[in-house]
Amino acid sequence: MTVAPSAEIRQFPCLSDNFGVLIHDPDNGTTIAIDVPDAAAYLDILAENGWKLTHILITHHHWDHVQGLSELKEKTGAHVTGPERSRQKITGMDKFVEDGDKILVGPFEVTAISTPGHTLDQISWYFPALKIAHTGDTLFSLGCGRIFEGDMEMMWASLEKLARILPEDTAIYCGHEYTESNAKFALTIDPNNAALKARAAEVETLRAAGKPTLPTTMAQELAANPFLRAADTGVQEALGMVGKSAGEVFAEIRTRKDNA
Ligand SMILES: [Zn+2]
Repeated sequence: MTVAPSAEIRQFPCLSDNFGVLIHDPDNGTTIAIDVPDAAAYLDILAENGWKLTHILITHHHWDHVQGLSELKEKTGAHVTGPERSRQKITGMDKFVEDGDKILVGPFEVTAISTPGHTLDQISWYFPALKIAHTGDTLFSLGCGRIFEGDMEMMWASLEKLARILPEDTAIYCGHEYTESNAKFALTIDPNNAALKARAAEVETLRAAGKPTLPTTMAQELAANPFLRAADTGVQEALGMVGKSAGEVFAEIRTRKDNA
């Protein structure tokens, strides 16, 4: 008999607006960290739960995702996997992945989805059996990462790729709690979108109560996130860009956000 894998997931704030994420398998003790903005925050949550860290997965080389890596690895002995592309940039990695690689992390099969644009090395981590993904700084709730190393076309291709690969019921974790400001901006692009209005109201309530707005779901993002909706007629009409390619519409939205 196949038993569906289960996991306990803890998401907690790190630094000013980053998230730490821990995934724990109660059956065999595997505990996975995704990115390490701050080692101390991870060590606290591990101690609080009595978990022993076994693996660390890295999304990209930016300091606010890896600055706690050396300390956390040294204190836990966890095995570290990250992007091949940052082999020279990130110290402490044991294993390297490229687009489409499927690796076994404890009992979990995890797929590395290359999603460049924010950085060239960016990996989104997908756990099909758990129906969760961590999209790093590529896809945020109601937003997407700023484009530092890639270009507009590359980022749009990465978002389309996530929309194609991740089923709608996938819970999406990501690197930052940016949803409230993303919602304000999204409403300037897609003001008549009922799903966006509902999500924006929910986000306001959650933030007022000091609660996180993540994880989100792929279904919710497809319905409400303007960066994923560049091919939508309503969005194109609102921008006066009917008939333009989705890539051009995406570039317009991203440029407006950069200047907002
Ligand atoms: Zn980043």
